Amino acid sequence: MKKLSVKMKIALWFGVLMVVVITLVLWFMQFISGSVIESNSKTTLTQTVENHLNDIEYDDDDGLEYDDLVFYKNGVYMQIYSDKGEKLAGNLPPDFSADVGFSDRQTQNIESHSVAYSVYDRRIFVKDYGYIWLRGIKENTEAAGAVSSIIQTAFFTLPLLLLIGILGSYFIVKRAFKPIAHINKTANEISEGKDLSRRIALGEGKDEVFTLANTFDRMFDRLEDSFEKEKQFTADVSHELRTPTSVILAQSEYGLKDADDIDECKSSFDVIHRQTGKMSNLISRLLQLSRMDRNKITLELEEFNFSELTQMVIEEQPKSDKNVTVTADIPPDIYIRADRSLISRILLNLLHNANQYNRKNGSIHIGVAEQGGSVSLSVKDNGIGIAESEIKKIFNRFYRADNARTATKENSLGLGLSMVKEIAVLHGGEISVTSELGKGSTFTLLLPKNI
Ligand code: ADP
Repeated sequence: MKKLSVKMKIALWFGVLMVVVITLVLWFMQFISGSVIESNSKTTLTQTVENHLNDIEYDDDDGLEYDDLVFYKNGVYMQIYSDKGEKLAGNLPPDFSADVGFSDRQTQNIESHSVAYSVYDRRIFVKDYGYIWLRGIKENTEAAGAVSSIIQTAFFTLPLLLLIGILGSYFIVKRAFKPIAHINKTANEISEGKDLSRRIALGEGKDEVFTLANTFDRMFDRLEDSFEKEKQFTADVSHELRTPTSVILAQSEYGLKDADDIDECKSSFDVIHRQTGKMSNLISRLLQLSRMDRNKITLELEEFNFSELTQMVIEEQPKSDKNVTVTADIPPDIYIRADRSLISRILLNLLHNANQYNRKNGSIHIGVAEQGGSVSLSVKDNGIGIAESEIKKIFNRFYRADNARTATKENSLGLGLSMVKEIAVLHGGEISVTSELGKGSTFTLLLPKNI
């Protein structure tokens, strides 16, 4: 049974069910109709006999008179017998030759020449004559014939009906299962790694199979997306590490082989030192991100003065060579419960970017506000801004918008904002941005005061 397909199983089950139901119906029909027809037939027999009880009289001149008595009526053959059992009048059914004893008001079932009969007798007193018997005989074949013809018809039509039923159910189930075969094929192709961009794409439909196909498609979307991100990430990391590594290699080779004096060696060491610093910075950021990815980071929650921390970070910002003016609107003593060092990293990153992507003599405005159970921080600059097509991507790892390539050189890694977003999410908060190219950007952080 396990080897059969679901289609076959359903068709078989349907077939067996049909056989059982039809057999039961036939059996029931035979049972009910047989007994109903038989009892009808017996009622006709007894009533026909009873109706003629008064049709027999005696006259001194003419003897027994029965002019009104019809000897064959409603399939009933009637005879008159003397009290001693001699037949006086009437007809027996053709081929009836059984010798049946008399029994008043009783219906007897008799078989003669393989034909079933019912026999009904009445003993009647005829005035001035004495007792006589009035007998009715009716053949039962009518009833048996009707039932057996039904069964015969059923016997021939049942296999045909059964075949139509099984085939019909097989094809309906096959049709209904067709999309599942398609889902199976697509999922197999994807799992064998042939093509990750393949989709089941059953289209719009309401039944369970369509819902299942759409759920699978959404899952494939997410899988493809995360595979792509993974690939991109590896490519980006390799790319970021390649430049400093080759610079370090070149400089150390130069220092070893070509440097003539200590000053030349020193300048090589200087370059190596800077590049190693950059690599170390990249590696420590990657480590942090990967710990966040693996949920290895545990938030060290404490209650602290968010207003004070923001003020402190602003004041500790190194003076920018772009002569950027910083203003702030921070209501005092807004307390939140969060990981203080991670939150200060958000503040540092947003302020650093607002500075880095600003213009000469630009400005930055920092605003803090309480909103119900949350606190919001906005960092607004009137710097170079971000193109609309890039806004969604700036939170991706290693993404640097076009503006960054021109505005900054060495220190831009494209990891700051992705970290800001992850920290915000870890705290149950969110970060959003509005920006216009050439006019400036506003980053808004929303954090719950308590997590
Ligand atoms: P990084 O600054 O190291 O490149 P980030 O993740 O902090 O990396 O930022 C990603 C990109 O978003 C930056 O390269 C830059 O193109 C853009 N960006 C971030 N902040 C600003 C800002 N205040 N103004 C304009 N562009 C910004």
